[in-house]
Amino acid sequence: MNANTPWMQRDLAVLWHPCTQMKDHERLPLVPIRRGEGVWLEDFDGKRYLDAVSSWWVNVFGHANPRINARIREQLDSLEHVMLAGFTHQPVIELSERLVQITPPGLAKVFYADNGSSGIEVALKMSHHYWLNSGQPQKKRFVTLTNSYHGETVAAMSVGDVALFTDTYKALLLDTLKVASPDCYLRPEGMGWEEHSRNMFAAMEQTLAEHNHEVAAVIVEPLIQGAGGMRMYHPIYLKLLREACDRYGVHLIHDEIAVGFGRTGTMFACEQAGITPDFLVLSKALTGGYLPMAAVLTTDQVYGAFYDDYATLRAFLHSHTYTGNPLACAAALATLDIFRDDQVIQRNQALAAHMASATAHLKDHPHVAEVRQTGMALAIEMVQDKPSKTAYPWQQRRGLAVYQHALQRGALLRPLGSVVYFLPPYVITPEQIDFLAEVASEGIDIATRASFSVAVDNRYPDHRDPG
Ligand SMILES: *Cc1c(COP(=O)(O)O)cnc(C)c1O
Repeated sequence: MNANTPWMQRDLAVLWHPCTQMKDHERLPLVPIRRGEGVWLEDFDGKRYLDAVSSWWVNVFGHANPRINARIREQLDSLEHVMLAGFTHQPVIELSERLVQITPPGLAKVFYADNGSSGIEVALKMSHHYWLNSGQPQKKRFVTLTNSYHGETVAAMSVGDVALFTDTYKALLLDTLKVASPDCYLRPEGMGWEEHSRNMFAAMEQTLAEHNHEVAAVIVEPLIQGAGGMRMYHPIYLKLLREACDRYGVHLIHDEIAVGFGRTGTMFACEQAGITPDFLVLSKALTGGYLPMAAVLTTDQVYGAFYDDYATLRAFLHSHTYTGNPLACAAALATLDIFRDDQVIQRNQALAAHMASATAHLKDHPHVAEVRQTGMALAIEMVQDKPSKTAYPWQQRRGLAVYQHALQRGALLRPLGSVVYFLPPYVITPEQIDFLAEVASEGIDIATRASFSVAVDNRYPDHRDPG
C-alpha cells in the first residue's frame, strides 16, 4: 500500500477510462498524478515520470508552463466564457487573426469546435454542405487512406480505418472510399520514401478519376498516420493530392490535429508540400495541451457559398456550446507567443537530430524492423521477424511490456501496439532524450525476448493503447 493506492481504489469504484479494457486494471495499476512540471508528471508517492508522449500528443511546452498559466489566470479574472453566437470577445478575435496569419495563404476564416473529432465533423459537414449550396448534392462521399485515424465520433470513425471501429461499429458508419496509404514502412526494399509515396499516388488518382462526381472531399493525416502506428510518408504525396483535388473538383481536408504546431519539423505539415488545403483542422497542441479546443480553417470560397440571405437556408448552423471558449483561446495565444518568441521550430532541429542519434543503435536490434522519424516524432517498430517484417500477433501485447518497464523506470512511453514512439514536449533536453532512449532500449529487449509471454483477455487491439 502506497500513497497512490487509495486514489486507485476510489477511481475504480466510479470511473470508466478512455481506450481501456477496465479489467486490465486488476493487474495493471492506474497511475494517479498529483502534479506536473515541465516534462515531468509526479504521482502521490513523489515518483516522477517523463512524459515522452506529451500526454496523448497535446503538451508542447511542458506541464504547468508559467507563461501559459499566467495568461489563463489573467483571462479567468476578466471573462471565463460567453456564447459565441451573436457575441464575441478579444481572445477569440486575436486567436483567429493569428491562425489566419500563420497558416498557408488562402485560409481566411476560422470555425471553432471543442475537440478534435468535432473539428473533423465540422470539416466533413462543411464540405458536403458547400457542394449542396453549389448545386451538387450528389457530392457526399469521402475518400480516406487505409490505416488512418480521424477521431471517435461516428462520422470521424467512418473516415478512419481502425479495425476496432470498422468491425465493432460497422453498422453505424458512412460509406467511404478507401485508398491504400502511402505509408513508407511498406515500401519495397531499397526504394526511397519519395519514390514510394509517388508510386502509391496512382491508386488515389484512379479513385478520384472514377468517383469525383460523387466525392465531396479527400481527408488525410499529412505526413504521419499517428494512431495507426506513427506510419510516415513523403510530402510529394500531398502535393500530388492537391493537384488532383483541383483537377477533379474535390476538397482536400488536412487533419493536422496531431501534426500541427511543429510536430513534423515545420509549424504545419502542409508547408512541407507547399500547399493550402481547403480545410485545415487543428486541435491537440493548439492550446499547448491545456484545454480542449479545435479550429477548422477554410477559404473565402467555401465561406462565400454559405453567405446569403437567411431565407435561402444556406447557413452553416452547426454549433458546439463551448465554441471559442476564452480560457482555451488564452492558452492558445500564450502557446503561439512561445512559438514566436522562442524560435521553437528552429531549436527543435537540434532536438530532433538528437532523438535520431540517441536511437540509431536500435536499427540493428534483431526485433526492430525500422526506426523512422519526421521532425519531433520518432517511432521504433518491433517485429517478430525482421527480414520479412512479420508483426507480432497483437494478442501478445509486446508494447504493453515496454510501457510497464518504462513506468518502473520513470517514463511515460505508451506504445501503439508494437510501435514504441517518442513524441515529447519541445522543452525536453538532450539528456532527457538519452534517458528515454535508454529506457526504450531496455523495454524493447524485455518485450522481444523469446521467452516473453503475457496473459491476454482483450478482444481487440486498441488504437491508442499499448496493446
Ligand atoms: C487525436 C486525433 C483526432 C481526434 O481528436 P480528439 O480531440 O481526441 O477528438 C483526430 N485526428 C487525429 C489525426 C488525431 O490524432
